[in-house]
Order: sequence, then C-alpha cells, then structure tokens
Amino acid sequence: MTTFKSMFFSLILLAISLTGCRTPPPNGITQVATIDALLTGVYDGHMTLADLHKSGDFGIGTFEALDGEMILLEGHFYQIRSDGRVYHPADSIRTPFACVTWFNPHLQKSITAPINFKQLEKQIDSLVPLQNQFCAFTLRGSFSRVRTRSVPAQKKPYPPLVDVTKNQPVFELGAVRGTLIGFRAPAFVKGINVPGYHLHFLADDRSGGGHVLDFEVTDGTLEVDSVNDWLRVYLPPESQSFGQANLTVDRSSELNAVEK
Ligand SMILES: [Zn+2]
Repeated sequence: MTTFKSMFFSLILLAISLTGCRTPPPNGITQVATIDALLTGVYDGHMTLADLHKSGDFGIGTFEALDGEMILLEGHFYQIRSDGRVYHPADSIRTPFACVTWFNPHLQKSITAPINFKQLEKQIDSLVPLQNQFCAFTLRGSFSRVRTRSVPAQKKPYPPLVDVTKNQPVFELGAVRGTLIGFRAPAFVKGINVPGYHLHFLADDRSGGGHVLDFEVTDGTLEVDSVNDWLRVYLPPESQSFGQANLTVDRSSELNAVEK
C-alpha cells in the first residue's frame, strides 16, 4: 500500500513537472521602445526587468534615467554603472531601451589567433551571410584589451544621448577573461534599433564591463544564433515622453557618435 501510494505521488509530480516545461522558445527579438527615442532623451523606464525577462534570457540595453549599461546573460541581469563596477539590479527596475532574445546558438567557432572588433564582424558575417537576419552572439575567452564605456544616471529634464556621451567614462581593461554579448541588426531597423554590431562586455570575475568601443581577443569561443522569425517592439502606451518624442528626423550621425 505504501509503495503504491508513493508511486502514485511520483506520477503526479512527473505530470506536474512535464506540464511546467516551457515549449521550445520562439526564435525572435523583443525590444523595448526605440533607439531614436533613447537618442532624444527618453530615459523613462517603460518595462520592469521582471517583465523583460519573460521575453528572453539574453540581451543588452540600459536602465531608467540612463543609469548604466545592461547585460542579460544566461538569464541574469547585470548593470555596469558609470563607476565601472558591476551591480545586480532589482527585478523592479525599469528599462527605457533593451533588446532581448532566447539564446540558442547553433553555430560555433574557435578563435585561436588574436582578432579585433572589425575582424570579429567579418567572422560573424561569414557564418551568417544573410544580412537581413538578426544575429545574437557571445564570444567567451581571453582578451588582451577591452575598451568599454558606461553612462552616468541623468536628471530631468533629460539631455539628448549625444550630449551625455561627450563626458562618458571610458574604461581600459587589460588582460581580462570575459564574455562579449552582442547583436548584429539589419540595416532596415534604422531608427528602431542599432543597425550593424552592438556589443557589451562582462568580465568573468565581474570586475568590469560595459558598452564595447574596442577590443582584442586572443583566444576563445564564438557562439552565434541567427534570430530571424520576428521582431517585436514594445511601444509604451502610457508614456508621455515616448509619445511626444520627435522621431521625424534622421539621427544616424548621432547614433554613430554615441555608439563608437
Ligand atoms: Zn550599448
């Protein structure tokens, strides 16, 4: 009787765990608001990290009031503030701009000789030659140098991003192990996301990171996920600042100035 009872409960537990399994994740991009809104100074948080987490385990972005650079890696959020340090942000913090996906890399390549930013772009372009596909990727390994930046939290009235980055703190990390986390976005997302490559970095020992300006990796592993089923953009319905932002002008040169 006892054995029968325990078998019965084991079956119930198995049934519960099976129904609790997530179906295979959809191969798409979810992003919060638009890059041009961020460029104009819309730094109000639109979505909590808890809600953003429902749409992916991998991504990059920033935080309410532009309080640092965001990394979402293996389901964990990291915040690199303007002091260069790595923080664990609360789930209740909101983001004005972020881009996430479920990371399921299907392409892998070993890096055995030193390469820089431009050479990494070429390697990913050769792995995923279709330029109108998004790619999400990581590069884990040993770096001889990584130059990153972060951005300081802003006060209202918020200045445009191009003014903030004129005084951005830049960090020179030398001889560090860590992970590049990035996206390649197609040209057609101009105004919505960052066309081309956008990378953030996180040191293995969590001693630093940020938005990547330049690097050289000496050896490591590149993993790439082409993400091409759909692009979903969250348009904050209640946000006055987003609703009123001037999104009629071409901000390509501003974007180039703040990203590079
Ligand atoms: Zn960035």
